[in-house]
Amino acid sequence: MIAYKRILLKLSGESLMGNRQYGIDENRLAQYATQIKEVADMGVQVAIVIGGGNIFRGLSGASKGFDRVKGDQMGMLATVINSLALSSALEAVGAKPRVLTAVRMEPIGEFYSKQKALESLNAGEIVIFSAGTGCPYFTTDTGSSLRAIEIEADVMLKGTRVDGIYTADPEKDPSATKFTEITYDEIYNRNLKVMDLTATTMCKENDMPIYVFDMDTPGNLKKVLEGQAIGTLVKK
Ligand code: UDP
Repeated sequence: MIAYKRILLKLSGESLMGNRQYGIDENRLAQYATQIKEVADMGVQVAIVIGGGNIFRGLSGASKGFDRVKGDQMGMLATVINSLALSSALEAVGAKPRVLTAVRMEPIGEFYSKQKALESLNAGEIVIFSAGTGCPYFTTDTGSSLRAIEIEADVMLKGTRVDGIYTADPEKDPSATKFTEITYDEIYNRNLKVMDLTATTMCKENDMPIYVFDMDTPGNLKKVLEGQAIGTLVKK
């Protein structure tokens, strides 16, 4: 029994750094690829969005004097770099990845359409959605929410380095306690930093459940697909 047939897995760019200060740690990348292949082999349809924070974020560029729109475009290109890296790592473990881009840039990736994404997923390929939404002023969390809703995923899995949502940041407040389940409204009311508000609202308005879990422990993605309650479920 698998808990979800079609998933949208969101990985942050930052987590790709592993213990580095910048860029891509090849061990972390390989570890992610192995976990993803493991669940694809269970028959789960896997779509992925990966961030770009390990390379460039528009907001931090703007704070250094970059034009915000250009900075965001640089950030979107950073997500393409990470998507290509992940695609290569997936090929190395014997999976069949396909990179789709939100802005045209063939032959680096194919231009996104829902139809193309579904054809790939139904053919057993792992689809990587890159370049976020293609628009500035958004994040890859919003890109993930959008694509998860578009492809009618059963859940959006947010793989992080923390094992769920806590009452406060557990890395800063040792008395913080973890939720097994939480509603979208509670996230707003408690001002919890799970995703940006645009992404959370898109999920709320379209009834897309979010599951937050620790992706940095090998085997955890499989546990989520097996229905083990290792993280936090966000729903109505
Ligand atoms: N970005 C954007 N539009 C999108 C998605 C991303 O402009 O639809 C830009 C934005 O500048 C963002 C950067 O790409 O800071 C990298 O994405 P994000 O910060 O979401 O990456 P993560 O935090 O997940 O590593």
